[in-house]
Amino acid sequence: MKENTQLVGAGRHPERFGGLVNTPICRASTILAGSMAEWEAMKRARAAEEPGATTYGRFGTATAHAFEEAMAQLEGGRGSLVFPSGLAAIVTALTALLSAGDHILVSYSAYSPTRSFLDRVLRRFGVQVQVYDPACGGDIRSLMQPNTRVVYVESPGSETLEIQDIPAIARMAHAQGAFVVMDNTWATPLFFKPLAHGVDVSIHAATKYIVGHSDAMLGVVTCNEATWARVKQTTQDMGQTAGPDDIFLALRGLRTMGLRLQRHWESGLRVAQWLEQQPEVEAVVHPALPSHPGHALWKRDYSGACGLFSVVLRTRDAQAVAAFVDALQHFGIGVSWGGYESLAIPFTPGEHHGARWPYQGSAVRMHIGLEDPQDLIDDLRQALTVMAARASLSPSAQPEAARQNA
Ligand SMILES: *Cc1c(COP(=O)(O)O)cnc(C)c1O
Repeated sequence: MKENTQLVGAGRHPERFGGLVNTPICRASTILAGSMAEWEAMKRARAAEEPGATTYGRFGTATAHAFEEAMAQLEGGRGSLVFPSGLAAIVTALTALLSAGDHILVSYSAYSPTRSFLDRVLRRFGVQVQVYDPACGGDIRSLMQPNTRVVYVESPGSETLEIQDIPAIARMAHAQGAFVVMDNTWATPLFFKPLAHGVDVSIHAATKYIVGHSDAMLGVVTCNEATWARVKQTTQDMGQTAGPDDIFLALRGLRTMGLRLQRHWESGLRVAQWLEQQPEVEAVVHPALPSHPGHALWKRDYSGACGLFSVVLRTRDAQAVAAFVDALQHFGIGVSWGGYESLAIPFTPGEHHGARWPYQGSAVRMHIGLEDPQDLIDDLRQALTVMAARASLSPSAQPEAARQNA
């Protein structure tokens, strides 16, 4: 079955809900049994993972189960679990797989709250945390230790968008008995298939494109056979559950995700290509552009790109960058992304990037929404003009001269 067909049908069972097209929002804490015999049967059904079986709201109702079934199908996994945020999904999966004395390798381009959780929380529980260069590919082998239990990958990296060689990393990790856990949020379940590329646990901040409308927080973990029982048990042990209203929004978002992502991809690439031509722009960091260092890997492993990329402006004048962002009419200023609306926010690459981030200018993360791309380009053109006027007023902002002197 093709993906757009899966997106329409996955997790839907109208016959169970009086013919309703959509699984309803089922709110519950207590779930009643008609007799003790029925209660025992409900518990057995839940233990056997029968479709829809539950004994308590915390273990999910039909709404949660519909979303988990849909995600497991899209990601090709043994099972999926829903969480109240993307970060909750990440921390629960990592807690499930790591114990005191274990070693985890985490890419320095990974979402920074993920690295903070490892540093601030799992370190306290005796986990050894080591960051690595996302460009390492199969050389990850030289960093593996006998106690390495997890290699954590995120491709493209948050903000800096490094593409990782996931199959090469997975081969090395598995050769040493480690699991590969991936944050697959950027690609969505459509453009990269982690489990088919050797990943054991695939995670999405469903908050982004799955919900797709900037109106709910949600996370989802999909496991292969080797990791399913452990991650599921830990999810229950840690009391993780998500509200059915938010899950309903994620289910609704899934139905149109293919259509939305097609537009995010096309418009994002068109805007990125336009930006790359502008004299005020030093570089556009977008995996689908041939200028991206990871372009060949992206072409090999990915079937598309979302609307999120970064642009490096030549100016180093923070005031000029602020004037650029402030001048934009169609781009909101804020974190998160994946909704229908365009966003722009300046960022500073992490402390580990060093020579891997070869640009001199100011970085801005762009999210290209579902507006007409020509309006976005016109908007960017006038904002670049505002920025250039502002930058030329500032004597500290002469990057060309500064570089020649350096
Ligand atoms: C936003 C994001 C997360 C966290 O998701 P929340 O739902 O905000 O907790 C994790 N990983 C990536 C790559 C993200 O962009």
